[in-house]
Amino acid sequence: MASSKTMFEKIWDQHVITQEEDETLLYVDRCLIHEGSRHTFDRLEREGRTIAEPDKVFSFSDHYVPTDPKIRDAGVDAIPDEKIRGMVKLLAKNSTDSNIHFYGIDDPKQGILHVAGPELGVSIPGILLVGADSHTSTHGALGNISFGAGASEIFHIMVTQTIWQRKPKTMRITVDGELGFGVHAKDVILAIIAKIGHGGGAGHALEYAGSAFRNMTMEQRMTVSNMSIEAGGRAGLIAPDETTFEYVEGREFAPKGKQWDAAVANWKTLPSDDDAVFDTEVSLDAADIAPTVTWGTNPETAVPITAHVPSPNDAPSADKKAEIEDMLEYMELKPGMAVADIPIDKVFIGSCTNSRIEDLRAAAEVAKHGKAKIPAWIVPGSVSIKNQAEAEGLDKIFEQSGFEWRAPGCSLCTALNGDKLQPGERSASTSNRNFKGRQGRGGRTHLVSPAMAAAAAIKGTLTDVRTILRGDA
Ligand code: SF4
Repeated sequence: MASSKTMFEKIWDQHVITQEEDETLLYVDRCLIHEGSRHTFDRLEREGRTIAEPDKVFSFSDHYVPTDPKIRDAGVDAIPDEKIRGMVKLLAKNSTDSNIHFYGIDDPKQGILHVAGPELGVSIPGILLVGADSHTSTHGALGNISFGAGASEIFHIMVTQTIWQRKPKTMRITVDGELGFGVHAKDVILAIIAKIGHGGGAGHALEYAGSAFRNMTMEQRMTVSNMSIEAGGRAGLIAPDETTFEYVEGREFAPKGKQWDAAVANWKTLPSDDDAVFDTEVSLDAADIAPTVTWGTNPETAVPITAHVPSPNDAPSADKKAEIEDMLEYMELKPGMAVADIPIDKVFIGSCTNSRIEDLRAAAEVAKHGKAKIPAWIVPGSVSIKNQAEAEGLDKIFEQSGFEWRAPGCSLCTALNGDKLQPGERSASTSNRNFKGRQGRGGRTHLVSPAMAAAAAIKGTLTDVRTILRGDA
């Protein structure tokens, strides 16, 4: 009798080509790139190599595209910064010359690679997908192995459609129960990272299990898998189920007709066997998770919004004490202050973590309760999400509440397109990284859910979204 396997092991085994010592050569079903992949194209040209399977490479303009609607409407030549304009144009040229799938600045299917990819059906259950971006873990929400890779690995994929990998261990993270009022998928993943630490998943492929994830929509699951890398995880899988199949069916690159039936039959075999053994098991109770916010410069510093900034004196070790002191200094925070008293200068609702239609709906629900006191940007993750939100009237809700409605792209998540915080500015951001300078040199980032970000815009401080929704604030 075949031995029990985890979902990760099943998908991994289906992609093995050969093995040398502890390295395995794996077939890559789909590869995602963006403007940052220019060195890969340079090397292809320098070495006279061609792309092995161009039909399996998908290229997205996202990191460098402007999100100012006026510049966007005026087209690529209107991008004022020469370097940024050059990056956008270079990807278009390289992608077109290479005959790969390309979603450029003017394309109605353009979007952040981890948002537009699933929308197009590029990410489906059971595949091995590699992206030139660490948050490629997002796609694992559909029940596949997805991870980010560096330039030399992407080059290897381009010319061979394969990648050498060391097999990671497996970690199952189980969250059972119902999420409380005002608690969202972002709060769940922040609570997980707070529990296991920002390196807690290192060397592991994570699998999210339990009723909290089963009850989530695909969009919510993608928020969770997206931040697997922030826990140090190599990948972040969620077993495919009817929610997954319903989301994937009919999308452009999803199987069709008889191939669809065969694919679903295969996908139903992918979930981990009941008696599969994971190297590490972690569990949380959904009822214990509150609206959450980070106070420091890594996602592990996530605490309930009702908490206080910690004191270095309470640290469990000298190293931890020094780390807390350093973060407090950078974030300009005092130990013991209420997290909900931290003033905010700018709000960013967007990124591949939280720019999908449900994120915008959740933010709009809060925005209805007041007016933004500080600049607050809404940056949809793709053109199709922007169009859907406008069809639902969400853009009008945001504009009436003083939020700024912008064009799709990575934007303030990574500040490469010129959207950035000024030194010393502090944001409530729905993105995934609060590292020093991530949103602009000297900028300070507090990670939150879209609902919490909208609440911060209305209040001008980090605030408990539940008080706004209940009308207490
Ligand atoms: S939104 Fe941020 S994390 Fe996501 S792909 Fe863009 S830069 Fe990377």
